[in-house]
Amino acid sequence: MYIISTNNMLQKAQQQGYAVPAFNIHNLETMQVVAETAAHMRSPVILAGTPGTYLYAGAANVVAIVKQLATEYRIPLAVHLDHHEALQDIQTKVHAGIRSAMIDGSHLPFAENIALVRQVTEFCHRYDVSVEAELGRLGGVEDGISVDAKDARYTSPQQAEEFVRSTGIDSLAVAIGTAHGLYQGKPELDFIRLGQIRDRVSVPLVLHGASGLPDADIQQAIRLGVCKVNVATELKIAFSDALKQHLAEHPQANDPRHYMQPAKLAMQQVVQKVIQVCGCEGRL
Ligand SMILES: [Zn+2]
Repeated sequence: MYIISTNNMLQKAQQQGYAVPAFNIHNLETMQVVAETAAHMRSPVILAGTPGTYLYAGAANVVAIVKQLATEYRIPLAVHLDHHEALQDIQTKVHAGIRSAMIDGSHLPFAENIALVRQVTEFCHRYDVSVEAELGRLGGVEDGISVDAKDARYTSPQQAEEFVRSTGIDSLAVAIGTAHGLYQGKPELDFIRLGQIRDRVSVPLVLHGASGLPDADIQQAIRLGVCKVNVATELKIAFSDALKQHLAEHPQANDPRHYMQPAKLAMQQVVQKVIQVCGCEGRL
């Protein structure tokens, strides 16, 4: 009932100068944490899953659970396809009720990336599904695909302008020095490049790889036009560390209704912190 695209929430964020977090979810508990925290903080949020997540949890299951959580808390929620690479895969999930998609053709040559993304936007816009695409490549690991740091290429502002115009996308993921997974050293973001992209592109910009970035860097990126901030690894670490600690301290524990609680609480604290850093508390 309340599963929406990300168009309205990102355009409002762009007008008012904050960002909407996209939290990667994996199971019932992580979906509950994101929806409940968003409702309490009156924050717009996006629940995101990679192809691996939908394979694990089932796209129809995710849609059904999020729809129910949206109804229960009376808030709109966006369910997002993170790093999807195939038109047919996106089509199947749109038919299952998802209204926000990222088509990631960033590994393709520029013209092929444009051609693929244009096919996806033509399909998705018929269903009021918002489309994000990526230009340039991030470093790090997501879903087991490793991008060699040397091969990681930053987004060209000139190409970004042509890419947005030729594809009709609703938001653009940029590569300005962030990485998926954990940072090896101190991340150095190219804010000058981000400003140049902002000057040439009018759609909301998306920052991937926010786990482990200093708050000040995220907020500087938001000031320079980032309207969606993706967080995955930081949530997984908080959840699994608390779970491991609880099970180590309580070796007799066998009831998931109890041993999942500290994990959910640890993840909730990260969700709260990210909502505050993004400036989207009370923006629902
Ligand atoms: Zn990403």
